[in-house]
Order: sequence, then C-alpha cells, then structure tokens
Amino acid sequence: MFPYGVDSMNPKFEFLKINSQLEERRNQGLFRKCPCIESRRGSIISVDGKEYINFSSNDYLGLSMEPEILHAWKQGLEIWGAGSGASPLVTGLSKAHRDLQDEICEWLGVEAVILFNSGFAANQAIVKALNNEHTVIYADKLSHASLQEASVLSGAKYVRFPHNEYQTLSSKIKDQTGIVITEGVFSMDGDEAPIEKIRNISDKSGNIFVLDDAHGFGVHGDEGRGTISKHGLKHSSIDVIMGTFGKAIGTTGAFVAGSSEFISYMINFSREYIYSTHMAPAAAYATHQAIRLVRTRNDLRENLSSNVSYFKNCISQISLTPSNSTTSIQPIIIGNSEKALQWSDCLKSLNCYVSAIRHPTVPKNTARLRVTITASHRREEIDRLVEGLSECRKIL
Ligand SMILES: *Cc1c(COP(=O)(O)O)cnc(C)c1O
Repeated sequence: MFPYGVDSMNPKFEFLKINSQLEERRNQGLFRKCPCIESRRGSIISVDGKEYINFSSNDYLGLSMEPEILHAWKQGLEIWGAGSGASPLVTGLSKAHRDLQDEICEWLGVEAVILFNSGFAANQAIVKALNNEHTVIYADKLSHASLQEASVLSGAKYVRFPHNEYQTLSSKIKDQTGIVITEGVFSMDGDEAPIEKIRNISDKSGNIFVLDDAHGFGVHGDEGRGTISKHGLKHSSIDVIMGTFGKAIGTTGAFVAGSSEFISYMINFSREYIYSTHMAPAAAYATHQAIRLVRTRNDLRENLSSNVSYFKNCISQISLTPSNSTTSIQPIIIGNSEKALQWSDCLKSLNCYVSAIRHPTVPKNTARLRVTITASHRREEIDRLVEGLSECRKIL
C-alpha cells in the first residue's frame, strides 16, 4: 500500500493519532491521494494506463507545452545551469532573474518585484512582512489556504469577512490598523472580487491592500495583465500584488510586486526570501519568455473565453446550473463529499478527468466538481464532458 497505506505504523507516531485521523477522512469520503500522470499530450493525460481529457489543470492557456517556452528553458539551462546554487542575497540572483523582474515591472507598471519559488511561499512572506503587534488582517472568507495559513500563524488579529461582501468589510474595518486581503479570481469558485470597492475601503481607512491574482495573470486584461487591468485599474494603485507563474504563465514560481520601499523591506526582512535557495535561473529565463509571449497572445485568451462561453452554454442546455463564474474555473456544486467523488469517478469512467474538491479545501457541504476549461480544449472535448455530465446525472 506504500506510500498511502497505514497498515504498519511506527509507534513513535502514535501520539499524533495518524491512524484514526486517516480513518476518519476515509469514513467521511475525504481521503486523498495524488494521481500520477504518466504522460501528457495537449489536454490528454494518462493515469494508471488510461487516457483522459484533462479538465483539472490550471494551465489555462496551454503554455506549459508551448515550444518557444520549452526552447527558452533549454537555453536557460545551457547558460545558467540547473540550479541557482544559493539564496538571492548570497549569489542566487542572476541576470536571468533580474531580467524577469524588469519585464514584470514594465508589463504591470509597478516599481519593484521579487521572485519566489511558489505562490504559497510568497503569500507566507507577504503576510509575515506586514505583521507586527498592531496588525489586524481582514481577509475574504474564501481566501486561499496559503493566505489563511499565514494569517493564522502570524498571530495577528484575524477578521474574515463574508465572501465578496465589501459592505461588511467596510463596517468592520478600523482605521490604519493593518491589511486587507482578497483575490482577483477565487480559486475554487472562479468568481472575481470587487477589487475597486475593496481597494477604496482599504485606502479610505488607511489599511494596506494585498491582492492575490494567481488565477488572473495571463488570462485577464490587456496583454494578460490580470484581473486588476480587467477592472480598469492601475497596478500601481494597489499596495501589494502577488502573482504565480504555475498557472496561466505555464512555468513555476511566483512574484510579489509593490513599491521599491516595500520590496526592499522584504529583501531585508522576509525569511522566506532570505533563507531559501532562489528559483532556478533556467525557470526564470523560461518564465521571462513566457511573459513576453503571454503579452502578445490575444488569440489564446480569445480561444479560452470562447471555450468558457461554449461550455456554460452547453451546461445550461442540459439544465445543470452553471455557476456565475465567467472564468476558466467552472465549479459544479454537488454538496455532499461522497456524492462529488461518485460524480468524479463516473466522469473518469467516461474518460473525462474532473477532480472532486472537498472539505477542507472548500466549506462543508459545498463539495464540487472543479471543471477547468482551457484554451487548448477542442470543442469535441468539451462536448464529451457535457455528454459525460449528462450521462452521470442519469446514473447518480
Ligand atoms: C495556486 C494559488 C496559490 C499558490 O501558488 P503556487 O505557486 O501554486 O504555490 C496562491 N494563491 C492562490 C489564490 C492560488 O490559487
């Protein structure tokens, strides 16, 4: 059963009650394991020897397989080697990283940028950097786990406001006490935050506004500048921005953008930044190419949005309720966790790979199929999914 079995437990671990915790997860239909992708070709993946159309990828523009980016990664390897060899303050920051930072500054019109190995690490770093004994964190209730984790661990006073309810935020917020956190596009619902309203509330009360736009960069706005740009706002009007490269940009890692002062502060004080081996330079080199490409590829953004509209339209024709999301993330709420798993298994039996997302990733009783539509899906593939959904509904 290794690595997922719990048949023989090292007694040293007993005090953690690992067995009973895993058993509980199993009983609730919440046990998880990682599928191993054996091969990939466009939107087709193979798992356990079986082929599926992948509707569970955040590679929204299909850039992770884009020849120009693959080529850049190889070039980056030849020029810079396989790893950065050190943390950024030592000798881990190369010209490849610097060029990527400069490109992002120019793309978004922001003063300064630093790079992280992951969005998870970047969010830990942001929240900790903004935390002192006076900090109050106001965060949307559906904020990503990385933000919640950082907020809870920071020890700051942590106030969560109901999803997207800026009026409630406005009534709860105190003047100049901390930070307001939300997301451009919510990862499990695909809906967008009222960014301008929330920014205005933060500005008016003198609180720092932090926006995580992991799912917006690349797909939204002019030149893929993200949800901020889609909402007609300037990036420089938002105090701290986090973006990831692992989603629409197609590579790996993340960035934090802000004022030169704040970024210098992070470089000097952020332990996640200072004590971690810097992103591989070849990854930075490839990501630089990926962003240059993303800026010009309106065709991919158009494919994506027409695929999303097509899917929503098909779904309503088979009388499944489409969510209000107009982004790649198209959740179908099932409610019960076991039921969501049955749907996911049923779709898999019809060669459509759609993950069931369950508690604790989403609130209890809101288990869902998280369908992601990408620019690389062909119409026939979307048709297959819709037929599958229709089939599974008959059975379940
Ligand atoms: C994926 C995601 C992250 C984490 O980014 P990684 O680079 O995958 O670690 C952070 N915030 C949101 C909203 C995300 O969806």
